[in-house]
Amino acid sequence: REAVYRVLARPLAPDPDGSVKVLVSFQDVTDLEQAGQMRRDFVANVSHELKTPLTALSGFIETLRGAARDDPAARERFLAIMEREAGRMNRLVSDLLSLSRVESAERQRPTGQVDMAALVDSTLVTLRALSQADVMEFEVERINEGPFVVSGDADQLQQVVTNLVENAIKYGADGGKVAIRLEHKTRELAIRGPGIKLEIEDYGEGFDPIHIPRLTERFYRVDGHRSREMGGTGLGLAIVKHIINRHRGRLKIDSEPGQGARFTVLLPAAGP
Ligand code: ADP
Repeated sequence: REAVYRVLARPLAPDPDGSVKVLVSFQDVTDLEQAGQMRRDFVANVSHELKTPLTALSGFIETLRGAARDDPAARERFLAIMEREAGRMNRLVSDLLSLSRVESAERQRPTGQVDMAALVDSTLVTLRALSQADVMEFEVERINEGPFVVSGDADQLQQVVTNLVENAIKYGADGGKVAIRLEHKTRELAIRGPGIKLEIEDYGEGFDPIHIPRLTERFYRVDGHRSREMGGTGLGLAIVKHIINRHRGRLKIDSEPGQGARFTVLLPAAGP
């Protein structure tokens, strides 16, 4: 990788013979530069994501005042689009707030005790009530008897399950199946100790594994058009990743094009 240095030169007091020495120091500011670049990219992305629905809204307000004024059918159609665009902005701002909350809490160790089996059940009830999740078939499987208790923040872990299941619904096969598996592992190498493994698998379009390393980056999408069409913000997996990091867990992603996708979350099991 390229390194970036800050170079400082300072002339010293002249020697008795009149010669002047210069002190030159080099400071490696590569990380600082990269952090700055990432911040600038993020701001540019957020501005772009907000600008698109705002432009659409301004355009439709204009049309409602003008051409569509006396056409009730057109007015209804435009209002429906405006509602969708406002919803998109709302989701984006909510996700940005979640991301910033999770980031600022990342160094604090969560303290509560959370039963992942109960949390999966309640999340599915909520999702079924809120969305078109009833078009999907959920298959919840407990690989062993548990216990499935982790020490963590219940709200944040619920967000992990919600985001992963919502993605399985969005990108899974229409009317297809989503498999959710829970397993207590007495020893799990990746987290160096006993852990709870949660797998969420769909049988939809999947993606080329080449995308896997970048999938949890903010605003990274495999297919931007499809994500936006499904109401995605491009932030769901970034939020998931931060929450799992805060819980000292691991996220593993597997997929092949046309073969669905599997997201595996490993969380340290709560102590006795
Ligand atoms: P989005 O709001 O776009 O869904 P996410 O951060 O949740 O954002 O996911 C990032 C991208 O990863 C998505 O745009 C999509 O391309 C891909 N992705 C996530 N989950 C799945 C899945 N279950 N199947 C196929 N692609 C997925």
